[in-house]
Amino acid sequence: MHGIEGADLVVVGAGTIGGWASTFAALDEVGRVVVLERGVAGQGASSRAAGIVRAQGGTAVAVALGRWSIDFYRSQPERFGTDSGFRELGYLILAVSEEDEEAGHERVAMQRAAGLPVRWLTPDEAAGLNPTLSTQGIRGASYLATDGHIDPPRNVRAYGLAMQAAGVELRERTAFTGLLTESDRDSGNERVVAVETERGPIATSRVILTGGPSLRALGRVAGIRIPAGAVRHTVAVLEPHDAFAVDRQPMAFDIGAGLYWRLEEGGLLFGWSDPNDRPGEARSVDWAMYEAMRERLASYVPVTRGLGLRKIWAATIDFTPDHLPILGPGRTADGRRIDGVTVASAGGHGMMWGPAVARVAADLALRGQTDLVDVSDLGLERFDEHGRSRLATDPIALPFPADADDDAGVRVPTGAG
Ligand SMILES: Cc1cc2nc3c(=O)[nH]c(=O)nc-3n(C[C@H](O)[C@H](O)[C@H](O)COP(=O)(O)OP(=O)(O)OC[C@H]3O[C@@H](n4cnc5c(N)ncnc54)[C@H](O)[C@@H]3O)c2cc1C
Repeated sequence: MHGIEGADLVVVGAGTIGGWASTFAALDEVGRVVVLERGVAGQGASSRAAGIVRAQGGTAVAVALGRWSIDFYRSQPERFGTDSGFRELGYLILAVSEEDEEAGHERVAMQRAAGLPVRWLTPDEAAGLNPTLSTQGIRGASYLATDGHIDPPRNVRAYGLAMQAAGVELRERTAFTGLLTESDRDSGNERVVAVETERGPIATSRVILTGGPSLRALGRVAGIRIPAGAVRHTVAVLEPHDAFAVDRQPMAFDIGAGLYWRLEEGGLLFGWSDPNDRPGEARSVDWAMYEAMRERLASYVPVTRGLGLRKIWAATIDFTPDHLPILGPGRTADGRRIDGVTVASAGGHGMMWGPAVARVAADLALRGQTDLVDVSDLGLERFDEHGRSRLATDPIALPFPADADDDAGVRVPTGAG
């Protein structure tokens, strides 16, 4: 690798995962950190998210990642002199069916055992906290006062500034085009020695691969099978109303319908995924689905009936088959470990888990281990050759397709709200 440029760490993708992971690594004094971004920083999912952040996860790992990330967002002003716009609003996860209620009670028990002060509320108690909520059709809700949301564009600005202050070199409009590896005869593993880019190779022994909705395609370029998916997700904002002109009002999530909402600039922001959407890139709005979701929203929040639409966007969200993050070493097609390569995906939860996923990715890349959470189950090894996970699915997730394949036929309602 003589005569070519070198880096101590190359991070692929300048979304929230690559942005924060590169910052953490540079602050840990790994040396020269280069971030490759095929477009411009934040242009993937990270600038288009709804920004919901909750520690009310469906598994102990999800709770730990959410909690760490909320602590991180709160610590930003002191550590970085800026913030991602975190606002604590509280979060009601509604139980609409008997199964929701049963699952909700089990979830609260698990979360409380993990030390999270989540409470189970009656419909009247929920409406007491959020007076815009109708109790019709609600059997109860779990509630955590410290959940909230960030402002996704502000988060892109925050990690951009942090990267710059930490000395990270951001190369925009520079696509990653491949990995160069060598075989290690003793271990039988491969080891990364360089990355290829549109603008020439960079010699390195450490790479973090991120990519959000593009991670599957990016893996293909690197010769790594990553069963991450991409599918449409839609977010809309309704015009202001007095009912929403308050500083604090809990956000809410109807898991079964994949519908969530929160305050936004004196109006209401709501988002949803459609389980019938086929995986793949999508930017167009399904207006029939919009009408159905408005109707559903109005059944919970009657004051939204008749409110005008202020903005709406459809974008491509990332997901993993079990809705859990991917954090672990790269693997060749025949399952051999690629030393020096760390794959990082937040599985569609990059606002709520992003900082923690980025911290873990930096830990794995620099030290081969992390204290943040037990990641021994979260690597690519958990997927079979069809991309099916051997882990139980995170029960709080949007209704993403069951399979990450672009041409997959199977779908089940399952839930980033
Ligand atoms: C509409 C919508 C709403 C959402 N709402 C929420 C929410 O409320 N809460 C929540 O937690 N999450 C939410 N998400 C999910 C969240 O936005 C993502 O999980 C998160 O942004 C993923 O971050 P990332 O850094 O992995 O990916 P991205 O932000 O997509 O960044 C990946 C980057 O990699 C770059 N890239 C791709 N290929 C290459 C290549 N070959 N070379 C170099 N660069 C490359 C891309 O250009 C991109 O900038 C939402 C997503 C969408 C779309």
